Amino acid sequence: MLSEAIDDLSIFSSTIPAGREQKRAAQAVVLACILIFLAAARFARLALPAIASFVPAYETVIATNSLITAVLLFGHFRHAGSRDHYILACGFLLTGFLAIAHELSFPGVFAASGLLGQPAQTTPWLYMFWHAALPIFVILYAAMKDGAGMTPPTRWRPRYAVLIALAAAVALTIFAVVLTSLLPEIIPADRDAMLMTVMLSDVVGLGLFALAILWLRRPYFVLDLWIMVVMCASICEVALSAALNTGRFDLGFYIGCGFGLFASSVMIMALPLENGRLYERLKEAAVELGRLATTDPLTGVANRRAFEKALDLEWRRAARRNLPLSLALIDIDFFKNYNDCYGHPAGDQCLKAVATALENNTRRAGEMTARYGGEEFAVLLPHADAAEARRHAERICYAIAALNIPHARSDAGACVTVSVGVATMSSETAEAISAHGVAGPRGVASIKLVEAADKALYAAKAMGRNRVCAFAASPDGVAAEIGALPKAAE
Ligand code: GH3
Ligand code: MG
Ligand code: MG
Repeated sequence: MLSEAIDDLSIFSSTIPAGREQKRAAQAVVLACILIFLAAARFARLALPAIASFVPAYETVIATNSLITAVLLFGHFRHAGSRDHYILACGFLLTGFLAIAHELSFPGVFAASGLLGQPAQTTPWLYMFWHAALPIFVILYAAMKDGAGMTPPTRWRPRYAVLIALAAAVALTIFAVVLTSLLPEIIPADRDAMLMTVMLSDVVGLGLFALAILWLRRPYFVLDLWIMVVMCASICEVALSAALNTGRFDLGFYIGCGFGLFASSVMIMALPLENGRLYERLKEAAVELGRLATTDPLTGVANRRAFEKALDLEWRRAARRNLPLSLALIDIDFFKNYNDCYGHPAGDQCLKAVATALENNTRRAGEMTARYGGEEFAVLLPHADAAEARRHAERICYAIAALNIPHARSDAGACVTVSVGVATMSSETAEAISAHGVAGPRGVASIKLVEAADKALYAAKAMGRNRVCAFAASPDGVAAEIGALPKAAE
């Protein structure tokens, strides 16, 4: 059960299969993208006023968003240690760096003809590199995953990725700037021919290929869904702002840039939302683990660990407030014989029935039933003095006998019975303990109560079983017999 709860802690977006709700959300976003794209495609060439500040603002946001997304993905990578997050983070890093390079080269942003010179060639080539980077890394990401959404753990370091992405961006920028005379003319006089051949076949083709690979790789994990949304929006961006329009500052350009902005923001929105969901699951799993750690799996009552913690707490509380505290240890009579006669599964059922009966009899605040060991139970009775605890123990004996579970091989009766040892720390003892400051180290002093109850239980067994025997716990730990009660039922 514990391992089930731990298995359930699949806390990484790359290994959580996408749920119906997440798939619907992603489908709705993709559908909206397609509808906007189709509506805009018809009017893509409609000339609109040039807004000088648009490009710097747009590209700064794209670069910032891409770098933030990379940081978020590296954050996931630090915990998951799997290569898929790392690869995607590299894609976003390179995209961010190339967006900065493109912005530097863009005519009219930092200088009339761009900071890198030859804007007619450099800027479109950088645009190509910028928009090809992410699809290439998405293809790598999709190719790397196995069917369980896992990639082998790796010791790769994010700083290597930053250095390599930076070096790649610088190299591509130098390539676009210095070797521009060797490159084919990317914006010839016949712009439409260039767009069809270069842009559509390369960048859009890569995006579609990445999308297709992700689409075919089922099952979908949460991360896959949102990367598919990014790819869809990126394809719409390139198609509208570089392929279907006539040039900068027409409707296709502006709407395409809108798609670009959206594509760069998807992961920034999706990853924190997923994190919130994952924390929720983590919280639920922690609660479940806490429950499993304190509950006996067979009977459902508290286990010994929870009992000892509660006993120590109540012992200290009683000593502090001079209140009595009682404990009943309950042992099923001739239970080995029961197992031998009826089998272990029936024995388990018997243990469950006894535990339920005990729990039904411990309903007051602070009272607790726990499985102390094998066929032994403990009932903690805060504020109960010796007389009250004995009455309670007697009720327990009668309640178990009243279950009427046949026991053919018991010398104590015809049905299952229990022996109960009761120990009480009286309010006087509690006062003496608190006066001497002998509440003791955690868990040590309270053991005296268990020892006294154990002795009382031994006495009840020795007297013939199916009865209650009560001892008192003294400050020095010597148990004094209080008295034994007659048999609960024959
Ligand atoms: P006594 O009257 O002196 O208590 O005799 P007893 O037979 O009850 O005591 P003993 O300590 O000899 O045997 C305890 C038995 O409890 C032995 C063990 O098989 C059984 N037992 C312990 N835990 C479980 C359990 O989880 N399920 C089942 N079915 N039996 C258990
Ligand atoms: Mg026993
Ligand atoms: Mg027993």
